[in-house]
This record gives sequence, structure tokens and C-alpha cells, in this order.
Amino acid sequence: MTIRNLAKVSLPALSLTLASQGAVAEAPSTVDATYQAPSITAALPVGDKIEDLFTLNMTTPYIVQKLTGRTYWYQSGFYGTTWYVGDEGVLLFDPLGGQAETLLSAIRTTTDLPITTIIYSHDHADHIGGTPEFLALLEDQATAPVLVSSRETAEKMDRLNSQLPRPDVTLSWPEAIFRFEDVTIELHGFDHAAHTDDHSAWLLVEERVLHAPDLLNPDQPPFWGFAGSERFSYLQDNLRAANALDWDYFNGGHGNVGSHDDFSFHLAFIDDLIAAVGAAMGEVPWGYGVDASTLTAHTPMLPAWYEEIARRATETLRPEYGQYYGFDAATPANAEMVAEYLFSYR
Ligand SMILES: [Zn+2]
Repeated sequence: MTIRNLAKVSLPALSLTLASQGAVAEAPSTVDATYQAPSITAALPVGDKIEDLFTLNMTTPYIVQKLTGRTYWYQSGFYGTTWYVGDEGVLLFDPLGGQAETLLSAIRTTTDLPITTIIYSHDHADHIGGTPEFLALLEDQATAPVLVSSRETAEKMDRLNSQLPRPDVTLSWPEAIFRFEDVTIELHGFDHAAHTDDHSAWLLVEERVLHAPDLLNPDQPPFWGFAGSERFSYLQDNLRAANALDWDYFNGGHGNVGSHDDFSFHLAFIDDLIAAVGAAMGEVPWGYGVDASTLTAHTPMLPAWYEEIARRATETLRPEYGQYYGFDAATPANAEMVAEYLFSYR
């Protein structure tokens, strides 16, 4: 299927509207966080997280949390973003796919100012696919918002024939800096990125907030496929680079409000996963689980090998990590990505 054909495929709405399941036991914090009820008026103490976030995603239209004097954290249907309220307008990251009306309603609980700048963090439709509908909702503004992205994201949108509005302003890659009213925005692109080739972290310098969707999901073990990353290679480098920046609050586009403790947890989890996968690769013989007498191609041998390695590595990690959010759904797939990485790079 060509990319042009793909654009004509009708995809289901991405926002997850899930029926209430009643009271649900929330998974324990991966970083022993202190939890607070969400608030649009009280800034969240650094390191604290929003309580009952899974339940809130399942049962409420959206969650808004004030991070600092001017920066807000938003989540709906397990998708989140960030905005900054200036004196004259709002800077918004990532108009999420399928969420234009919900997102604007949420912003309006914090300010009536116009949306003057929109930043695409990276070219993934689930994060920026709501832009056309969002812009349509702003048609009565005196001035349309300025769309901003990295040069890498703009070029990628061209390469893949994106149907989404192109940025008005493109920033140099991988590093750039610009001002929005009184706040400094730094682009820190990952020159070699795990998630996508245009993946980047965006720092609101004076607010000490880092916005980098799909880098990690705070308060969880790594999400399935390392948050939909195209490769595992470079993920540790990307995590270390983002962790070394000067910030207090992190928005990963999914999961809870993040802190540096979440980066430490992820890096430790990944170290343990690499060790477990490496050990399993030494134990599982090539051809495991395949009946050679019935083979008509050698193709089944590789996926069968990876599957057993991933199963064993998942069991190795279970005593320490099995109680955490989504462990069983995510870890086998992540172990397979690590196995492929270890097999390829020695
Ligand atoms: Zn993404």
C-alpha cells in the first residue's frame, strides 16, 4: 500500500472513550511518588504525581494539572500534552488526534487568551493529527496560530506526504532556541533517535518543564514497543540526554507527570531487561520450538527464537517489576526489541 493510499484509509477515532468499569485498583508507583488530586489552580509539588490517573482517564473527559505559574499538563484518553499561558496568548504543543474540542475546552478552564503558537513535537498523527479540527475551532481568532516544528519534522511531513497543515516556522535541527513572549523554548532534537527520526525534547526554560511525547511514560515500566519506538537502538542515549537537561516537570504525552526519578527508573529497568534478554539468548538454542521435520522455510525459526527469549526475560523481571502498570502487555514486545538489538549490535 502506498502512502497516498494509506491516507485514504478510514481510521477509527484515536481518542479512547472507555466505559466506566467501577472502582479499579491503581498500580503502585514505580518511583514511590506522593499522589495529589488534580488541580488547575494549585501547582503540583515537584516529584508529586496525579492520583488515580488510570481511573480518571477511564471515567472523566480530561484531566488538567497546573505545573507552574503558567504551564499546564493535560491528559484525556491516556493521551496528553502541555500549554503555556503568556500575557497575550497561549503556546500549545501537539493538538492531539481526535481531541480538538476536548483540548480547547480544557485550555479554556485556564485562560480565555487566543492560541497564538502551536508546536509539533514530532510527526506522529496520534499527537498532532487533531490540528485541522483545532485550527477550525480557532477561526474566529483575530490571527491564526503560528505553527512551529523542527526542520526534521517539516521535511519528514513532506517525505511522507502528510495530510496535516505544514509548519509556518521551522527551527534548525537538532538544536534551536526561540522566545514565546517571556519564555525561552529550546529544541533538543535527538540526532540519532529511537522513537522516530524527528524525535525531540522541548524545554520551557524558565518554567523548567520538558515536553517530549513518547520518550517515556512516567510512573510505568516502558510502554509496549518502548512507546511505539521504531527501534530500541539509541533509546538509552536519548533518555540520558533528556535527563541531563535542566527541568523539574516532564510530559511524556502518556503516563503521569514525570520527574527525573522516572528517567532513573526507566534506565534501571532497561539495564535489567538487557541483562535478562542477554542471559536468555545464551540459554535458548537456535531452532527452539520449531519442528524441523515439518519446516518448508526457515522463516519461523527467528520469531520462535525471539518469542521464547522474550518470554524467559519477562519471567526474570516479573518478581521485581510484575506489579507495575501494564507490565505483562508491554514487556514481551520490549524484550523482543532488545533481543533484536543485541543480536544485531555486538
Ligand atoms: Zn510518537
